Amino acid sequence: MPYIPQLVLCTLILVAGVAGWTWGPVAPWALVLLLPLPHLIVLSGRNLGGAGSFRMGALVTTVGRFSGAFAFALLVLCCGWVQWLRESLGARLDLEGWPEANFIWVIFPYLIFEVLNIDAQSRASCAVGPGRLSWRGFHLRMFASTLIPPATYLTIAVLVGSNRWLRVQVEQVELVSAVVFVALIGGLAVYLPALFKASWRTHELPPGRLRTGFEEISKSVRFSSRKVLVWDTGQMMANAAIVGLLPSRRVVILSDALLSDLDEDELKAVYSHEVGHSHHHHVPVFLAWSVGVFLLADFALRAFDPTNAIAVLGIMGAFLAAWGLAFGWMSRRFELQADLFAMRVLGSGRPLVSALEKIEGTLRDKATWRHFGGLRRAHFLDECAQDPAGALRFEQKLKRVSQVGYAICVFGLVAELGLMAQGLPEDRTWAALGLGDYPSAQERVERIANPDPSLERMVKRTLDVEVAVGTSADSLARAWSRWQERDLKAAADWASMAYLQGNLKAYLIVEILEFLGGEEPLRESLNPARLPSPWRVELIVALSAARQ
Ligand SMILES: [Zn+2]
Repeated sequence: MPYIPQLVLCTLILVAGVAGWTWGPVAPWALVLLLPLPHLIVLSGRNLGGAGSFRMGALVTTVGRFSGAFAFALLVLCCGWVQWLRESLGARLDLEGWPEANFIWVIFPYLIFEVLNIDAQSRASCAVGPGRLSWRGFHLRMFASTLIPPATYLTIAVLVGSNRWLRVQVEQVELVSAVVFVALIGGLAVYLPALFKASWRTHELPPGRLRTGFEEISKSVRFSSRKVLVWDTGQMMANAAIVGLLPSRRVVILSDALLSDLDEDELKAVYSHEVGHSHHHHVPVFLAWSVGVFLLADFALRAFDPTNAIAVLGIMGAFLAAWGLAFGWMSRRFELQADLFAMRVLGSGRPLVSALEKIEGTLRDKATWRHFGGLRRAHFLDECAQDPAGALRFEQKLKRVSQVGYAICVFGLVAELGLMAQGLPEDRTWAALGLGDYPSAQERVERIANPDPSLERMVKRTLDVEVAVGTSADSLARAWSRWQERDLKAAADWASMAYLQGNLKAYLIVEILEFLGGEEPLRESLNPARLPSPWRVELIVALSAARQ
């Protein structure tokens, strides 16, 4: 996924732009002026290098890899792109609530700039001819495949947000939101091979000695996959992977550069290494640990119930850091275990080590987050060959790590499901209020032994409502007339109701009414200018009176 840093940068720019951290005039036509920017940056990096300014050239080339995001930043942060879209489309385009389909227009220029950047890069790295064409094709497909997971997520979020019933269920009923989340992740895990295949150029490994050799290895260790695919990268990447979780859908992928650089024994070693990952269930162990850590973070948040955003971010950040350390530690050792598996399958560690040598150039002792250096991996195989008991101890240790991961995951899931089931009757009552189905809310709250006092009070307010289905406009009108009667509590409750029913701005009214009623302190960042009319004028006056 080579375009992840660019996508992260693009997301940060998007968030900053939508949140209003912009300066400069509204100048959407700047989009046209910015189109040549990626070529200018990237090609001047190449020309500087060509003219002998190597250090400057290298710097500009590095910056040039982000030229797409850079042009996007200028458009969004200095040329009012989001502001212009809001005015011309009449769109909300904010970070509250569910994303709108209109977000595609915010992102659209970035897609153009990144494609132009890829074209510029292809011109900087290859001479005219088929080499340049295949470089460009390969990188465009890589970029497209990096877009798949966020695009899937956004599409589903837009669909959920635009369906009233589904939106209220996901917002109010924890069990439903958990089911949607799990279905999304599970669906991606199952369909990822198909999605990648759609964006990468692959073909099945043709029958022959190599394929027969792979099939024999698979049979001897009872590994099954749908097929072995050759990934056509224009000889640009030497890589292998297993994609997909289910045996009936997973595929082993070997890149073209790997196939042409390595000999038959080395390829068998790489294939066995990949099979070793599956044999030892490395992906399920990672998943179990990830789910487990995520659920523990959720429990920590429930237990401490921090009210300010910094504390929430702090807790999430601490868990994310712990997960990152644990993931790196496990990943490096799982690679060793897959190496060991390959050595056992082939009866020798030699082919794998020479494959590593060819891939790395020379064996180095430089570890990354996910892999040890080739030198360490070669030493490890030597040690295991001389000390089989030590190898067994190593594998025992990893087995315990896996078991702990599964245990945390199962414990977390059971506890989480328990909590969700416990909260289900209340959640469904909140959801009924959110849908404006007051009779059903009244009926449900009767059946709860000790309902949340605020829920009980809100349901009670609906008893004298005659309409069958409440809407947010209707609830906000009720809040307004209670406010005119200076019944702050009732007004706040009806404004909360409007918020539950989908009017996001009603939450500002709730916050101010609760402050005026002496219940809650006022949030520093609250901006009363964003209040809907006719509330704006009256609440601003009331606020300044209360502050004196
Ligand atoms: Zn591996």
